[in-house]
Amino acid sequence: MRGVIMHTPGDVRVEDRPTPTIIDPTDAIIRIAATCICGSDLWPYRGVDHPDHMPMGHEYVGVVTEIGADVETLQVGDFVVGSFFASDNTCEICQAGYQSRCVHATGLDGTQAEYARIPFADGTLVSTPGRPDPDLIPSLLAASDVLGTGWFAAVAAEVGQGKTVAVVGDGAVGLLGILAAKELGAERIIAMSRHADRQALAREFGATDIVEERGDEGVTRIKELTNGLGAHSVIEAVGTQESMMQAIRATRAGGHVGYVGVSHDVALPGEELFFSGVHLHGGPAPVRRFLPQLIQLIWDRKIDPGKVFDLTLPLEQAAEGYRAMDQRRATKVLLTF
Ligand SMILES: [Zn+2]
Repeated sequence: MRGVIMHTPGDVRVEDRPTPTIIDPTDAIIRIAATCICGSDLWPYRGVDHPDHMPMGHEYVGVVTEIGADVETLQVGDFVVGSFFASDNTCEICQAGYQSRCVHATGLDGTQAEYARIPFADGTLVSTPGRPDPDLIPSLLAASDVLGTGWFAAVAAEVGQGKTVAVVGDGAVGLLGILAAKELGAERIIAMSRHADRQALAREFGATDIVEERGDEGVTRIKELTNGLGAHSVIEAVGTQESMMQAIRATRAGGHVGYVGVSHDVALPGEELFFSGVHLHGGPAPVRRFLPQLIQLIWDRKIDPGKVFDLTLPLEQAAEGYRAMDQRRATKVLLTF
């Protein structure tokens, strides 16, 4: 089969890879219907992480082609959406809703490919109610990571009726955090963005205000918009020192930060944190917790998160997709077959 391999930072190639087969009786094999490039794939691409012939990709929707002997809830032919971490969905951690930290949590062996092996298929994959219309596929694909992650960030930030929410980061996760905040009843949603096209999508997803300033200036603007108090809920969807401190300082005492940007060299100042009175909650999103609800919202055409994809390319042109995201010519790239 064909699949994306990152040889070294910046060197993305589509190559022949072995077609995956069932290894454990709880596995399923799926034929990928659509996959995409994640903002987090840019960390190795830019050399912040150190890839060495790494199979790429962790977002996927597809059709089950083979199941192991112990798989009970899925059948060959099912159209499925899965999370970027495999999870058993039965252990105490999963039952508490933290499937990304399942005691059996394991990553996937590169879903930017024609086929993928999904461990713990019963616990990881969720079937759609039927074969989706083609126009629903981008939104279902978004549910497998960026929508699920933005949704978790909003839940972790305790977004709810009547609250003011600020969103740090205007990538796909930040934009879908806005969508989630709107769905969860936020009264006011402040998007922090300085890109006109992303501001427009932010407004379409429910942003009521745009703040272009960053860092301390951005914090000052949020305070000005919230009677000097800060937002009730802040979504952090970047993962840098600056973005994390911007999120914490833009939150009012007693408020909540939901942080989902993959942390890179973030160090929190203990004394400032102590006196802030701010709740912090986040980490790798337990997307599996939200998948049934998100799939239904998409199936019923109540939300359209697939709008975050602004470039679609055949898998064979994945390298151009990485370049486009790296150069910010695209927010999120969908790869098709
Ligand atoms: Zn588990």
